[in-house]
Amino acid sequence: MLELLPPPPTDPLWDLTYEFGSDERAERLNLVLGVYRDQTGRTPVMAAVREAEIRLAERSESKEYRGLSGNAAFNRALLDLVLGPQGPSDRAAAVQTVAGSGALRLLADLICRTRPGTTVWISDPAYVNHRPILEAAGLEVRTFGWCDAEGGFDAAGVLRDLAGARRDDVVLLQGCCHNPTGADPAPEDWAALAELAARDGWVPFVDLAYHGLGDGLEADLAATRLLAERVPEMLIAVSCSKNFGLYSDRTGCAIVLGASARAVRHAETALQNAARTLYSMPPEHGAAVVTTVLEDAGLRDLWRAELDAMRARIEANRTDLAARLTAMGWQAQARSLAGQRGMFSMLPLTAQEMLRLRREYAIYGTTAGRINIAGIPADRIPCLARGIAGVLAG
Ligand code: PMP
Repeated sequence: MLELLPPPPTDPLWDLTYEFGSDERAERLNLVLGVYRDQTGRTPVMAAVREAEIRLAERSESKEYRGLSGNAAFNRALLDLVLGPQGPSDRAAAVQTVAGSGALRLLADLICRTRPGTTVWISDPAYVNHRPILEAAGLEVRTFGWCDAEGGFDAAGVLRDLAGARRDDVVLLQGCCHNPTGADPAPEDWAALAELAARDGWVPFVDLAYHGLGDGLEADLAATRLLAERVPEMLIAVSCSKNFGLYSDRTGCAIVLGASARAVRHAETALQNAARTLYSMPPEHGAAVVTTVLEDAGLRDLWRAELDAMRARIEANRTDLAARLTAMGWQAQARSLAGQRGMFSMLPLTAQEMLRLRREYAIYGTTAGRINIAGIPADRIPCLARGIAGVLAG
């Protein structure tokens, strides 16, 4: 049987990561995957997470099945965190998922079960896995532009493109720290998007993977909360991978907001049914950790402080890189970098120039120009700036 399988495509980001693994140059720098690294290049376990794990190990509760929606306390805590204490959680439900990717896939399945053939709009460029996940669930995908020529958020262009979205289409928006561009809408742009959704009747589908790593936790959640106030129906995919550092524990949830309690109940059951045929139930550990952190005032404060420190380090890296490029005479490029937010920056380099960065300077970013700004030890920023300037100089 397997002899019949044609060569399948491989994941471009993981291909680059494997290529990096066999690069023997001492100065090699891996900025491909979106993983936070500290000053020593390690991806640390956050202190609040470690303490929660110790408490959980001491309590050593049962590992019995939790139920079809996963950990109920986790789902409540994330509804509260994402929608805010005053948020519309009375017309919302959350189902624990296998991280943000699992939430995206379950919500895509929900859309397909509700109305097969629905069109989902994604930004161009988008997170590499958006289109594959939506298409795997059987949905139609269309795109809207995201950036202007300088790499900033193109408000006029986005509103123009989305004027083509029809009632009941779904529009996938990243709630903050856009991957891959780092270009985010300003608050007034989010207000215009919410207005458009309310007027034209399309359903916002918000992907939240980096809240806390852009302008601060509350600021990064503001757009999601605004949309939740303004529209009757909304879908939210939440990842705890980056802001709790739980990458491999696969922790997240799918949130649905509906116009009636009945619609929300049905949507929750449809999400459970979708999970049941994929993996039955999500893993408990990460959800128990997040719940322990969020339900304990001391651990919650510690987590917030650690998250703020991560955000500050990312911001310092970006500012330093932009200042060095400015000093080397690349002002326009530096300005566009400085305006970006979150873990990623889009370098103003072509695919060919990204290849040169890899070959000549051992610096690995994606072919499209994305680098993980959160993955650079501060003392390596001068050599990153030299590499970029060297490639720009031709
Ligand atoms: N959405 C976006 C925009 C992402 O960048 C990522 C991860 N890189 C995810 C969702 C999914 O993350 P995970 O499945 O690891 O939680």
